[in-house]
Amino acid sequence: MKLIVCENYDDMSAKAAELIKEQVKEKPNSILGLATGSTPVGMYRCLTEMYKNGEIDFKDVTTFNLDEYYPISNDDPQSYHTFMKENLFSHINVPADRIHIPNGDTSDPIAECESYEAAIKEHGGVDLQILGIGRNGHIGFNEPSMRLNTSTHITALTNDTIDANSRFFENAEKVPTHALTMGISTILASKKIILLASGRSKNDAIKELLSDAITTNNPSTMLKVHPDFTLICDRDAYSDIRLGVDIGGMSAKIGAVDNGEIIDRMSVPVEAPDGEALANAIAEACSEMMKKHSVRFVGVGTPGIITGGKIDAANLPFKDYPLGEVLGEKLGLPVKIENDANCAALGETLAGAGRGAQNLLLVTLGTGIGLGIISGGHIYSGRGAAGEAGHMCIEYDGLPCPCGEKGCWEQYASASALIRETKEAAAANPDSILAECAKNEVNGKTVFEAMDKGCETAKAVYDKYLDYLAVGITNLANIFDPEAIIISGGLSNEGARLSEPLCEKLKIKCDIRIASLKNDAGIIGAASLDD
Ligand code: PGA
Repeated sequence: MKLIVCENYDDMSAKAAELIKEQVKEKPNSILGLATGSTPVGMYRCLTEMYKNGEIDFKDVTTFNLDEYYPISNDDPQSYHTFMKENLFSHINVPADRIHIPNGDTSDPIAECESYEAAIKEHGGVDLQILGIGRNGHIGFNEPSMRLNTSTHITALTNDTIDANSRFFENAEKVPTHALTMGISTILASKKIILLASGRSKNDAIKELLSDAITTNNPSTMLKVHPDFTLICDRDAYSDIRLGVDIGGMSAKIGAVDNGEIIDRMSVPVEAPDGEALANAIAEACSEMMKKHSVRFVGVGTPGIITGGKIDAANLPFKDYPLGEVLGEKLGLPVKIENDANCAALGETLAGAGRGAQNLLLVTLGTGIGLGIISGGHIYSGRGAAGEAGHMCIEYDGLPCPCGEKGCWEQYASASALIRETKEAAAANPDSILAECAKNEVNGKTVFEAMDKGCETAKAVYDKYLDYLAVGITNLANIFDPEAIIISGGLSNEGARLSEPLCEKLKIKCDIRIASLKNDAGIIGAASLDD
């Protein structure tokens, strides 16, 4: 299969017309298989232009159209006979007796199909077949079904196709319920096939066509077995670009995500005095991205609690702020907001360490502890704020937490807790290697640096830290029984030095993995919030 991705509809139309011109130049008496629908209209316009300029001559060409509604009279304004006349045949010199379109006005549709199939064979088969694609993956009127017909046949239209085609009729009831169409084998017997796809509505069908699968649920996927099949699509039909916004304490990172991969990125500082100003800065950056990419959705991951679409975030200027609604109005696109840990969990599930998992937890060890919960492949957020695992009590009447409670897990197992314990142990053991390492700035790495130098004090600090981390993880594993728990945040950079001793300390068997997407998980997850 050959793939040609064009920038827009006009380029796609010009490219397809060019290939038809080459075909007719090479074989003036070519048998062309033609299609109807809105997609090939631009291509027919280009062919008309080429004919007028003397670049192409149709006098020896024969045509066979893919399909026709049934029942319908040939001169009905919505018949494909009328369509072809208006869009191509009345503008070029293809002889009328070489034009073939199934007759939807017959009293014996089965005989009509048989003679149509025979006529194609008598002409030696189609040299170049042009196809459009339905948003459900149909080609011709070969609709998704358990069972597909091989040769030209009469078929019932699906509701989806009736709905899609109702735009050409007064209303859906006026769309004929049946059609006569070439079958899958008729199409596959063509020497060359070109399928044209334009616009976002074809995105899902094209995604499946480009995948490894062949399925009767998307008849276009059968074309992959053809030895000379070319897919020409515009960027809207081909790509699935969504913006993922990951708001952090210092910056908001914006990524253009195409099929789980970040293809472009921007960042805006989070220094705005109020929610409105920050929303404006994010909207401006998204607009910049939208100039470069055809974006269909914007997902936003933010710290804080989201209820009824409103954000309440301690370290951001968002207090009960409807960010999704505001961005949606400014950008004219659907926008969805989620907690950032949930977005990271979704990102790791889709494209990172948890790829393919249906039930998964992501624990972020940072200033506090965040938890993202994936249940059945989707984010679980309870009434909106689920995942505040950093505030589960693991030490009754323990250390006070800024949340007002005591003994919260993040007071013992966050990166900040490890740093605090490092400082305290260094101060209590001034002669230790740890104290030496802690002379300059103390951060999450200090304890590892001292352990590398053989410091027993550092080992004890880390051991105690791991005990607390293991208690919380054991609690979570007992509650959720996930396929895996992914550890992210700065401390996860320690890799196996974190995951291996942690596993040993767990009171329950659990697959502990280190996050692989790092900061990109939040962007990829946010961009996928509409799935
Ligand atoms: P469309 O239809 O070109 O109008 O989108 C294509 C098809 O249904 O095959």
